[in-house]
Amino acid sequence: MTHKKSTIQLPTMTPGTSRGIAVHRFGKPGARPKVYLQAAIHANELPGAMALHHLMPMLVEADRKGLVKGEVIVVPTVNPIGLAQLSGNNHLGRYDFLGLSNFNRNWLDLSGAVADSVGKQLGADAQKNVALIRGAAQKALAAMKPQNELQTLRVEIMKLSVDADIVLDLHCDMDAVLHLFISRRDWPGNAQTLAADLGAEATLYNDPYPEALTFSGVNGALWARLADRFPEAAIPQACTSATVEYRSQHDVSHELGESDARNLYRHLVRRGIISGRAGKPPQLRADATPIAGMDVGYSPATGILVYHVPKGAMVRRGTAVCEVIDPADPRGPKARKQIVARSDGILFSGKQNGKLAWPGAVVFRIAGPKVLAHRKGMSGLDD
Ligand SMILES: [Zn+2]
Repeated sequence: MTHKKSTIQLPTMTPGTSRGIAVHRFGKPGARPKVYLQAAIHANELPGAMALHHLMPMLVEADRKGLVKGEVIVVPTVNPIGLAQLSGNNHLGRYDFLGLSNFNRNWLDLSGAVADSVGKQLGADAQKNVALIRGAAQKALAAMKPQNELQTLRVEIMKLSVDADIVLDLHCDMDAVLHLFISRRDWPGNAQTLAADLGAEATLYNDPYPEALTFSGVNGALWARLADRFPEAAIPQACTSATVEYRSQHDVSHELGESDARNLYRHLVRRGIISGRAGKPPQLRADATPIAGMDVGYSPATGILVYHVPKGAMVRRGTAVCEVIDPADPRGPKARKQIVARSDGILFSGKQNGKLAWPGAVVFRIAGPKVLAHRKGMSGLDD
């Protein structure tokens, strides 16, 4: 049996408090391929933790049977800081109470440190380059001296992920269908089989990586940034990194958790991490589309938000997706402001009916196939 549970102890921030992160490892340390799975960096997004709750017993069983060929690291809830952010009977896990920053930004771009330490040694041997880059990235992390709890969390978690062949960061949206954010460098390839195995209803690619330092972004971008910086060297996209959006915050059930875990497990089999037969990948539900083709609807005003179209629907340009109602305006239909789609595509996420909207609030996202002039250069990570 190889399964080991350990705890990353974070530094104490206030007298009488201390937090740790539970880490589960399966397989021989250093075995390949290596997959790193984490959930709930946005700590109030628990569908991914539910999927891992159902996946872990499957991994324990695979381990008991000696089927774990690669290495699997599972962090079921990666953010104990956010998990503790209870306020007025609400759980607020997206932004750090201390610095008010989004927990899924400001991850560590190690490409500069890696380039400085081993850039000159990168050559035509891709395998050798991969080993050099992974070693240098671990060294850069080991040299860091994080000062507080959140910085320590970022450094210690990246020590687990930065040398993995697959990194899956499990999130969810407010009201959404299952969708992925990936790098174009992984598509079609490994990201396409991931999308098929997980049943993604939309897949959006950064080309090649998001400028915002998201967790899955920095793990994949390490390779893309170094490949751009050293065009003469053979630097493969050695890590398939994806943000998996497991539908809506309230989409938590044993049925969904079990089927999501089965789909993850099948993907680990397909990638050779666990022995077994993955079978033919399920039919891909949607082709990948560019982030610059993602239409984002912003509320023009404040008021009551109501949708006309269910999430997951195909919409046409010009369709009124939702409206914002001024509750103080007595003129009935004239009190309602429509927000229309500016692209054909899949309405893959939004908020729930009845939420309060405010000027500039993101109210929907549509995955369209064509780059939109009004979205060029925008990340879409604006909330
Ligand atoms: Zn999230």
